[in-house]
Amino acid sequence: MQQGLFGDESVAQNCIFCKIIADKAPAHILYRDEQVLSFLDTSPVSPGHSLIIPINHHDNIFTLSDAESTAVALHAKRLAPVIKRVTDSDGLAIHQLNGRAAGQTVFHYHMHLIPCQHGASKSIHGRRLATQSALAELAERIRQDLSK
Ligand code: AMP
Ligand code: ZN
Repeated sequence: MQQGLFGDESVAQNCIFCKIIADKAPAHILYRDEQVLSFLDTSPVSPGHSLIIPINHHDNIFTLSDAESTAVALHAKRLAPVIKRVTDSDGLAIHQLNGRAAGQTVFHYHMHLIPCQHGASKSIHGRRLATQSALAELAERIRQDLSK
């Protein structure tokens, strides 16, 4: 658990993404280093829908440092073509919501990478949970491609 960014550490302790970072909640992880973590969204808009988060807790973009912002963007640049290839998609959308007014629902900064097919819906939020087996199989294929 990252600490020190808060006067009140309970913010991070109650954050589901901080729990994933601390291995206290399950996730289908794609990549992690000292600055960023990526994993599959459990309610994907389309197969391969992934999230990239900074290791340090920030509610949203308004407190993110330049270095963290750069680390997330660089990982997105590396992960996007891998997800597009593995899911055989026509395109890939990147969304990033800040604040309830913008539609944000999890308040740890994250970037969505959403594979897109021609003609399919362009929503940001999926409507149903993917199966654990489908997520596990896809995460493995993405990790393998990333490591090439
Ligand atoms: P946002 O509305 O931009 O805050 O998006 C939050 C995203 O987090 C949604 O797409 C959720 O499906 C996803 N999500 C919530 N909890 C988890 C979790 N435990 N593991 C993976 N994805 C999650
Ligand atoms: Zn957090």
